[in-house]
Parts: sequence; structure tokens; C-alpha cells
Amino acid sequence: MKINLLDLQAQYKTIKEEIDNAIHQVLDSSVYILGPNVKKLENSIAEYTGVKHGIGVANGTDALLLALEAIGIQPGDEVITTPFTFFASAETTSVLGATPVFADILPDSLCINPEEIEKCITERTKAIIPVHIFGQMCDMDKIMDIARKYNLFVIEDCAQAIGAEYKGRRAGSIGDIGTYSFFPTKNLGGYGDGGMVVTNNDELAERVKLLRAHGAKEKYTYVAIGHNSRLDELQAAILNVKFKYINQWNEARNIKAKIYNDLISGSKLVTPTELSGNKHIYHMYVVQSYRRDEIIAFLKENGIFTGVYYPLPVHLQQVYEYLGYREGDLPVAEDACKKTFALPLYPEIELEKQEYVVDKIKEFFNR
Ligand SMILES: *Cc1c(COP(=O)(O)O)cnc(C)c1O
Repeated sequence: MKINLLDLQAQYKTIKEEIDNAIHQVLDSSVYILGPNVKKLENSIAEYTGVKHGIGVANGTDALLLALEAIGIQPGDEVITTPFTFFASAETTSVLGATPVFADILPDSLCINPEEIEKCITERTKAIIPVHIFGQMCDMDKIMDIARKYNLFVIEDCAQAIGAEYKGRRAGSIGDIGTYSFFPTKNLGGYGDGGMVVTNNDELAERVKLLRAHGAKEKYTYVAIGHNSRLDELQAAILNVKFKYINQWNEARNIKAKIYNDLISGSKLVTPTELSGNKHIYHMYVVQSYRRDEIIAFLKENGIFTGVYYPLPVHLQQVYEYLGYREGDLPVAEDACKKTFALPLYPEIELEKQEYVVDKIKEFFNR
């Protein structure tokens, strides 16, 4: 048996006719960028998130970049985020000439630790970027309390968390701005790049709209230095089809995660922690063991492909040497990078495949 971490083909097969029709409608329409499909997706995602505005952009990285620019981040500013995330969560701060500051994570949820955020605050701090890692939301009550106390903006990086909930509120609806990625492997993934900024704030929404299209208020009238970061109609049409299934797919991931939990219980592998009050959408099913590298090699020999998220924390990346972090500075994140890995999980994965994965894990520990 061969089991991949993800199977994008399995999902395409279930909706092939709808997707193919949507693509051909766009091709026939000759409207290819920022047209009716983008507008529809923006409205759907804003409503789904529970906010007023959705602004389609080129990818999830640009969504973060434009959000940071919209709140006025500039050189000299500091933005606090987690070291246990995809690089873009910090990179975008650096692109603007500002400085990312890393707060350590919690050992169970692997989300940013609010108490560590507070320790990182200086006079230069302007914003916090909590990342809802692997599909589970951070402790937003505590983060928003800190933000109010120190007058900071909050940008929720929801790239991995569309549809996740914290005390009944969806990811992206609690901070000043939320950002989504529609990269193909995300829970709502296109067949190319895509992203969106969501917000309740009219001014910030206007600003992001300006920035995504060269700072043009009207055609050929420029009022800001912007970008070319537009969402195209093909991706939006595909995403409009897939959006109808997002709750169903998130639910399937959650059910399949629980199946893994049950099958794995009693073994030496640590299963993911689902915090009370949270709805986890399992973008990744991430387990922990200090024997990770041996387990991964054994599973691979048996046709099972896993993924390491993340092998090196962002603060120890070579490019951030200039920030002066040393090994041992953020021990919880560094430890997580030594023991976490993701098992194959996607909405369509069959029970027999999950059973096979866990049989092999048990076989590993019993050797
Ligand atoms: C995927 C991802 C991004 C970037 O999204 P792209 O669409 O690939 O640019 C940002 N943050 C996190 C946490 C991600 O997982």
C-alpha cells in the first residue's frame, strides 16, 4: 500500500464535473481578473468568517503583507509572532523593513503563548500576528486583552484555519484583520495561488483594496504605492465550487483525526491536543515523538509518507541570524521542531489506510 500525506486527486475526482464547468465558464467569459467570481468569493468568505469585508489577493503571503501595510507597519516597528509557523508569518514583517519578534509557544496546542507575548512588548511593538497553527485557534481572549492593554493591532494568520472556531467565533473575525491562503494544500485550496484579507474595519478594507491594485483609486489615478496582488477569476471560480464543501470537508478531517486518536491511544506517540471551546479543523494531524526521524524512515519503508512541520523554528533560520537569537532562547518551539510530524490526513482518506498507518506505528514501537 502507498499512502501520501495528502491526496488532492481524490478530492478533484469528487467534484470534477463542477470544477471543469466553472473553469470553462470563465474561459468563455473573457473576464479573467477581479471579476464576478472574485466578488462572489469575497462576499461568501466574509459572511462565512462573520465580518463585513473580504478582499481577494494573489496569495496568503500577500494577504499578510497587505494587512501589515494597511495598519501602517514601517521600518523600526516590531511585530510579535510565533517561531513555530510557516516562514511567511514573519517574512512579511521583514519585507516592510520592520522587525519580527518571536514569542515562544505552548507545549500542548503548539500555538503562541500569550504570557510570552507580553514579555516581548517594547515601545516599538505595533502588532501581534497569532497563527492558528494546524487548524486550531490561539487563545484569542488573552491575546485581545494584551492588544487592548498596549494598543496593538492583531492580524490573525488563518492560512491553516478557515472555519476553525474559538468560543463560537470563526478564525479571522476576532482580530483587526484576518488572512487566508488558498494554496492548493490548504483546507480550502485552489489549483494555483490565491489568498484573502478579511476585516470588519471599513478603512482597513479600503486600504487593502488600494494596495492590491497599484494604489489606484480609479483607473490610472494613483494615491498610494501599491502592488499587483489580484486574485484571478479562474481560481475564484474553482474556490466558489469548493467553498460549498468546506464545512463537510472540515468535519471529515475532524472525524478522521478522532479515528487516529482512538487507534493511536495506548501507543507511545503523543496525539494532538484539542483545547476546550475550540473547533479544530485539522489542517494537519500532528503527532509527537523524540524518535520521529526513525519512525518517519520506518513508515516510508512501508509506503507511508509523512511531513515534518516544522524542522527548524523561524528564529533560528540563517536569514534571521542578525536578530541575535540563540538556541535555547525559545525552548518550547525548539523542542517541538525536534519531535513533531504530520500523519496522512485528508477528507477522503479511507479507514483501512488509517488503520494501516497506525498498525505500522505500533509495529515500529514493538520491534
Ligand atoms: C501557507 C501559509 C502562509 C502563506 O500562504 P501562501 O498562499 O502560500 O502565500 C502563511 N502563513 C501560514 C501559517 C501558512 O500556512
